Amino acid sequence: MGEDRGWMEEHVLKGGDLLVYGRLAEEMEEIPQEVVWRELRAAAEKYLAGGEERTEGIHQAVDVTIEELVERDRRFGYPAPFCHKGCANCCHEVVYCTEEEARKIYEYCGETGIEIDRGKLERQLKYVETDERLDHTGVTRWNDQPEEDQGCVFLDEAGVCRIWKVRPLVCRAHLAEGTDKYCRPHNGAVDPRATGINYIELSYVLTAIFSIHRDSIKKTMGRLLLAL
Ligand code: SF4
Ligand code: SF4
Repeated sequence: MGEDRGWMEEHVLKGGDLLVYGRLAEEMEEIPQEVVWRELRAAAEKYLAGGEERTEGIHQAVDVTIEELVERDRRFGYPAPFCHKGCANCCHEVVYCTEEEARKIYEYCGETGIEIDRGKLERQLKYVETDERLDHTGVTRWNDQPEEDQGCVFLDEAGVCRIWKVRPLVCRAHLAEGTDKYCRPHNGAVDPRATGINYIELSYVLTAIFSIHRDSIKKTMGRLLLAL
């Protein structure tokens, strides 16, 4: 076992599996394994060194990384993501976050007077299949809910995210090209017409952080907020 993989086993995996995110899930087998473990270790080390401010730190780092990657792609003639505040078709499915992100969101709502509709969160969770640990299995009947319950609890009446400043990593890293028309999945299934922008750089970061927070990330944002 290489040094970086050994470090990941000791400090992140601790006997568990990687929670592989995004493009890395598709390309894991094609990338030299030493590169995969080196990049994951770099992301995990940076995050773990962030102390109490690590959630804000990683949010800022991801935002900056996206700006840099978009600028790089622009120079090569590739399109920028269509995504912007108020574009919210993707905000109609299960949302994941770490327990630290959930706490930051909860505190932000308290400070800014944003009410969290706990009843809606409870109703939404009835359409999310879980295992005996209350981890989401990946199976949902999300679109069997009444239409008014399918949107994220943080969307306002105009369809704008009310917690944009503290929104979770997944909401920052989920990017689409060209249009928002096909961004709304159906019961967890992605619309085949959707064109995602999947930066491998972000895949490493989210894979490392999801794996560090394995015990909370699959609980979903709704369940984590209801526990606070
Ligand atoms: S993923 Fe789609 S719906 Fe979400 S912000 Fe981007 S373009 Fe808009
Ligand atoms: S937290 Fe904001 S960006 Fe994320 S799904 Fe909810 S409304 Fe959309």
